[in-house]
Amino acid sequence: MTDEELKKKKTLLLEYSQLMQKEGLVIGPGGNTSIKDEDGVMWISPSGIPFMEMSIDDFVPIDVSTGKILDSRLMPSSEVALHLFLYQARSDINCIFHSHPPYVISLSSVDILLVPLFPDFVVYLGDYVPQVTYVTPCTEDMAQLVVQAMKDVPSCVLKNHGAIAVGKSIKEAYTRTQVLESGAQILFQAKLLGEPYVLSKKDSQAILNLEIEQYRKKLLQKSDK
Ligand SMILES: [Zn+2]
Repeated sequence: MTDEELKKKKTLLLEYSQLMQKEGLVIGPGGNTSIKDEDGVMWISPSGIPFMEMSIDDFVPIDVSTGKILDSRLMPSSEVALHLFLYQARSDINCIFHSHPPYVISLSSVDILLVPLFPDFVVYLGDYVPQVTYVTPCTEDMAQLVVQAMKDVPSCVLKNHGAIAVGKSIKEAYTRTQVLESGAQILFQAKLLGEPYVLSKKDSQAILNLEIEQYRKKLLQKSDK
């Protein structure tokens, strides 16, 4: 990856990280994001600097295989273990968003699990979003629980804390973050009105089999270029 390509990726990551803050999916210096480059280095947002106030030079580089910080001018996000362990366990992902979306946190606090109520949920998240039990944030315990829960799914909910979404591209991981909160909000509203119909396995499979959905998904995975 050339310096120019890396700069473009970091610019796009910062743009979407700031969007996450603008859309209310994190507040203040909360949440953190990262990408993994083609040389096996992850670039993670720094600790304590809100996305709106940081520049692309503030992302902290860390070697994924060794966990070594390659430039220590700034401290990496306090959730560094979470990002590192996920990249080490999942060679198929290049981007991670950790957010604090209000509806996701509300439902998790009363143990209402996210379920598919609409087609975009299935397309971007599949038919299952695991929820990880509450543990102290920023600990290796939490990072290990997340890695276990996300073996073969693109997102998870952290009880009383927030959400994690991963992707092949920045836009894919971000879209998943948006769909998690939208899914939680729609579920919250539907439950106020009655008992919602949950899409069945058969419904989900039929959506995933649609050629147009497979096309849209591939497009999103290649969309960072
Ligand atoms: Zn958090």
